[in-house]
Order: sequence, then C-alpha cells, then structure tokens
Amino acid sequence: MTEHRTDVLVIGGGPAGYTTAIRLGQLDIDVTLVESTAHGGTCLNRGCIPSKAVISAASVVHEARTSEEMGITADIDVDFEQFSRWKDGVVRQMSNAVEKLCKANGVTLIEGRAMFKDDHTAHIVDAEKTEIGRVEFDYAALATGSRPVELPGFEYDHPSVLDAADALSLSSLPNSLVVVGAGYIGMELSMAFAKLGVDVTVVEALDSMLPGFPSELVEPVEARADEFGIDCQYGQLAEGWRETDSGLVVETESTDGQDRFEHEAEAVLVAVGREPVTDTMNLDAIGLETTDDGFVQTDDQCRTEVPHVFAVGDVAGEPMLAHKGSGEGEVTAAVIAGRTASFADRAVPAVAFTTPEIATVGQTATEAADAGYRPTQGEFPLRASGRALTTGHTDGFVRIVASEDGRVLGGQVVGPEASELIAEIALAVEQELSVEALAETIHAHPTMAESVHEAAKNAHDRAIHTLNR
Ligand code: FAD
Ligand code: NAD
Repeated sequence: MTEHRTDVLVIGGGPAGYTTAIRLGQLDIDVTLVESTAHGGTCLNRGCIPSKAVISAASVVHEARTSEEMGITADIDVDFEQFSRWKDGVVRQMSNAVEKLCKANGVTLIEGRAMFKDDHTAHIVDAEKTEIGRVEFDYAALATGSRPVELPGFEYDHPSVLDAADALSLSSLPNSLVVVGAGYIGMELSMAFAKLGVDVTVVEALDSMLPGFPSELVEPVEARADEFGIDCQYGQLAEGWRETDSGLVVETESTDGQDRFEHEAEAVLVAVGREPVTDTMNLDAIGLETTDDGFVQTDDQCRTEVPHVFAVGDVAGEPMLAHKGSGEGEVTAAVIAGRTASFADRAVPAVAFTTPEIATVGQTATEAADAGYRPTQGEFPLRASGRALTTGHTDGFVRIVASEDGRVLGGQVVGPEASELIAEIALAVEQELSVEALAETIHAHPTMAESVHEAAKNAHDRAIHTLNR
C-alpha cells in the first residue's frame, strides 16, 4: 500500500478534474489526481468525443447520399468495424494526451477510487474495494461527474437496453431503435443513427424535443428529423418493455394516462438525463451533504460548505457540460493558488450537435426583458449567406440580443456550424462588448462567421446582405 502527501487532491479525471489538476500544476502547486476508470472521464471516453465521432461519420454518409443537386452520387458502404476502430482510436488518442499533459504539468496520477477517511485523508481503493493506498491532502477538489439516470423498468443490465455509452460502443448497428428521451443525447444520437440507416422511434414525455432551447431554434431540427424518417412520439412516458422474437417492444403511456402505445425495435436507448456521482467518495467522512437534487453545492469560487473542499463539473450542478466543468476547474485552481477568481455563468454556451446544430449563449430577448432591459435584436438568415449556399445548407439563422445601449447580452444560432459561430457571441457576452464592436470587425469572406457580423449590423439596421427592419 502506498502512502502519499499532496497539497491538492483532485478526485475524478474528466474535463473538470483534469483541468483543475493541470492548471494547479501550471501554478506550481503540488497536485494529485485520482481516477477510477479512464483519463478524460465521461467526456472523452463515453460522451462528447465518441458521440461527435459517430455524428461526423453519419454526416459524411448522409452528405454523400444526398448531394445529387451538386451532381454527386455515390454508392456508400459503411464498414462498421473499421468505423469503430477509428472512433476508438480518436478516444484513445485524446485520453493518452490528457495523461501526458497531466504528467508534463507535474500532476501525480493515481489509478483507483478515492474515498474520504477524514477531513485530510483519503483511501485509494481498487475495483474490488481493496485499499491500495492512502493520500493526505490540504485541499480537495471533487470532480466525480455524473452517470445516466436509470428509468424504472429499464435497468441497463440487459444487452438490449442501452445507455449512451452502450450505444456508442455497439459492435454492429441495429436495424431499428427506440430512443426514450428527446433531449441532447436522444436527438444527437437519433439523428446520427437515422443517417446511418437505423429505423428510429423517439419517445418523449414533453410535447417537443430538446427542452430548454427556444422553439424557433428547435423547429428546423424537428423538420430535419421528420425528413430523416425519425418517428417522434411526444407526450408519452416510457413505462416498460418486453422481449419479442425479433427484439423488444417498448410500452408507453400518454402523459394524461388515457392511452397506451407500443413501439417495436431491436434495442432501446434510454437517455432521460444524468445524475451527479457523489456516492463513490464517502462524503460523510468530511461532513459534506448534497442538495435535494444530489449535487454538491458550491459558491462562485467553487468552494463547498467545507472550506478546504471544492467541487467542479457535473457533480457541482447544471448545466452538465464539459466546458462549464473546465471553467470551474480553472477558477478552483486560481482560488487555491490565492488568486482572485470567480465563476460567472452568464456566458456558458449550450450546443446541440443535431442537424442543423443549435447553439445559444447568454440571454434571449425574453430573458433580457425579464431582467429589466429593453432589448434589441439583430438577425441574419443563413439563406442570405454566400458561404451557407455554397455548402448546400441554408436552414437557420443567427440572432444577437443586445441591451438598449448596444451591449451584447446573448445569441441564438441554428444552422450548420452553429457550434463554432456561438464562440464569437460568447466572447462578446463575456467581455461585455457592443454590437458595434462585432459590426466593425472585418470578417473574412465567404465564411459562416459573416452571419454573426451581419446579425450584429442588423441590430442597428445596417446589414448589407439582408433587408433591415
Ligand atoms: P466526468 O467526465 O463524468 O468525469 C468524472 C470522472 O470521475 C469519471 O472518469 C469517473 O470514473 C471518476 N470518478 C468518480 N468517482 C471517483 C472516485 N471516487 N475516485 C476516482 N475517480 C472517480 N458535454 C458537452 O459540453 N458537449 C458535448 O458535446 C457533450 N456530449 C455528451 C455526449 C454524451 C453521450 C454524454 C453522456 C455526455 C455529453 N456531454 C457533453 C456532457 C459531458 O460529458 C459532461 O458534462 C462532462 O464529462 C462532465 O465532466 P466532469 O469532469 O464533471 O465529469
Ligand atoms: P436531457 O435532460 O437533455 O433530456 C432528457 C429527456 O428525456 C427530456 O426531454 C425529458 O423530458 C425526457 N424524459 C424523461 N423521462 C422520460 C420518460 N419516462 N419517458 C419519455 N421521456 C422522458 O438528458 P440527456 O439527453 O440524457 O443528456 C444528459 C445531459 O448530458 C444533458 O442534460 C447535458 O447536460 C449533457 N449532454 C450534453 C450534450 C451537448 O452539450 N451537446 C450532449 C449530450 C449530453
């Protein structure tokens, strides 16, 4: 058994934990990172990265199959085994890179699960819960992430009941799939699987997909889902499932309890949200309680109720997004290093990697009005973008929301590369830039980014490539 002393113990090596550790290393603070599964956490191994690999590959297939208008036809064959090797290689490369970066920044890495023994000591246990080490620390940062919510009746122990990680590591594609939940995971993966030829039925309790995003951004995605042949069944709660000769049947009930439905498929993917992981660390030993939702509560310096313990990433609350966790990690490292820092959530972008993509940051006009502003908006339709036309994808728009004195308060984008376009608007919100600052910045032509430029100009009726209101 190893005995080890460190200034800061980071528990969990996902984007929140490894960012905290690397930044502490850069600030010359002795730091030890304990990870029980794989470097990079959910994000690199079971979440963001493999899902985007699947989405990219599916889009290549879809583009090749639907580019007749450009004069391109192709006979496409998907070698799923080779695809899986490529995807796994991408994940391995990222995970190895995180390990190397940690080491290069002086982070001590320990494999195992960290469980608190007392205020300043943690046991390290292996998968069999045998103690393999002990770490004494001055500060701790909890970065244990989240896991998929298990819907009663849909326990993940059956090979045909998949969580996102299972769906991202299939050895072959099912012919048909029922997806329970039309949130981020449900819609990103439904669209990718449908593009790969899987017959997809989505069951969602609410009356539309992608809750939390404004309806005018969601509508173009709903239209494309329809076009891809995805059967979206709204207002239904998944109640249970049973095996059949050809696969399974998912049983649902309308939310008013009046009707029952059945949906057949080879497998079911359950994506009804994620819950924080707090039961792996023995929090009782440091006297730390969780909120009713199971999260660890923190202040704007990411400090918990126990002053020498910090929490970052999914375990510390919504939004459960990788970049929110990384941002909190940077703040935590700075605070521990004695610097002035605090986490502000006014400019955390949210992106759904659907077709088309949706991206938002900051406030909508309604939220800005509710906050006491008299907001103005600038908008640019992608059908007026030369670059969008040259890609064959003109669905969507860029919208910028500004205060009455011209400060950028938020932005909403739906369309190709929305995930990239939102970055400039996020910068403007975070740095409190004016729409004039965006409007007066020369943007390269022809680019999708010109749409942000034009939307900013439209806020003051000076857009060139669309009619001003
Ligand atoms: P995690 O990444 O969950 O890492 C926590 C780590 O802690 C795990 O590796 C776990 O093994 C370890 N751990 C737990 N307990 C202990 C312990 N006691 N001791 C040692 N180690 C422990 N977010 C985005 O921003 N963009 C996306 O495109 C996106 N796509 C996603 C797609 C899918 C399919 C999924 C499932 C999620 C996606 N997310 C995305 C969400 C994103 O993955 C999470 O927000 C992010 O991983 C959270 O980072 P984290 O560091 O807080 O936790
Ligand atoms: P989600 O919260 O995005 O969506 C869950 C959906 O399931 C909701 O629409 C909900 O109404 C529905 N639902 C819940 N119970 C149901 C039932 N019994 N029957 C039918 N529908 C039901 O959750 P998710 O898609 O599992 O994703 C989890 C989290 O992971 C996200 O909230 C996000 O934080 C993160 N994530 C982010 C990205 C990204 O940033 N692009 C991608 C994937 C995941």
